[in-house]
Amino acid sequence: MGKVIAVANQKGGVGKTTTTINLAASLAALEFRTLIVDADPQANSTSGLGYNPKEITTSIYECMVEGVDTHDAIIQTDFPNLDLLPSHIDLVGAEIEMINLGNREDKMKDALEDVRQEYDFVIIDCSPSLGLITINALTAADSVIVPVQCEYFALEGLGKLLNTIKIIQSRLNTRLTIEGILLTMYDLRVRLSNQVVGEVTAHFQQMVFNTIIPRNIRLSESPSFGVPALAQDAESKGAISYLNLAREILTKNGMMPHDQPA
Ligand code: ADP
Ligand code: MG
Repeated sequence: MGKVIAVANQKGGVGKTTTTINLAASLAALEFRTLIVDADPQANSTSGLGYNPKEITTSIYECMVEGVDTHDAIIQTDFPNLDLLPSHIDLVGAEIEMINLGNREDKMKDALEDVRQEYDFVIIDCSPSLGLITINALTAADSVIVPVQCEYFALEGLGKLLNTIKIIQSRLNTRLTIEGILLTMYDLRVRLSNQVVGEVTAHFQQMVFNTIIPRNIRLSESPSFGVPALAQDAESKGAISYLNLAREILTKNGMMPHDQPA
């Protein structure tokens, strides 16, 4: 049964989509079958993997709201072991359409139920909100990764997010854990970056991943080529940092990477 990990932070631009695509690609490169679930109506994970969201006819929206079989929406990407459940702008309307449905927090969980056994990991890219779609993602997930940008106001909103996670743990999904807080867009030369690392680590201690994601041009430009950084430049600092994150998560979960002797 695949582990479902949501990548969530209601702040925009903190690296959720970059983390989803590059962590998933790293797990796939280490030969773990991985599904990316694009749960953001902006569909950045979908376009970042080279698919035009406007041309998507069957998306996660149809699976959640119209009961379409999730297998029919999944796209096999050009990268071995990496599949995509794409998004579409229609997902904006799903929040409203789902309000009157029974078990409206369980729609994503239900949609993923039949496919998750076909993967080792399912990584959900959340939208920058704590609305019903994100609540669905956190209800479907086994754990959550919280990317935090090494910038001013890094900790802003984090309390609210952690509180939401607590509420979901107590009411909707008791198995939800925090996989880790991930520091992103770290710039060695910027003193503020170091301050944020110090502050977040002091505050959250062992909840923070050892791996820190540097600010790296390959990570920001690879989506325009429709590929993960790993496929564009495997030697780049960005690609390597996400491979390290994948290994850290595998170790944490007692799953050694396939390319390393046990
Ligand atoms: P979110 O999904 O949280 O809104 P994104 O992953 O889209 O955040 O990142 C926001 C912007 O920052 C994007 O333009 C992305 O390419 C860029 N970016 C994210 N992480 C990095 C990084 N480590 N180095 C350089 N640019 C990054
Ligand atoms: Mg995003």
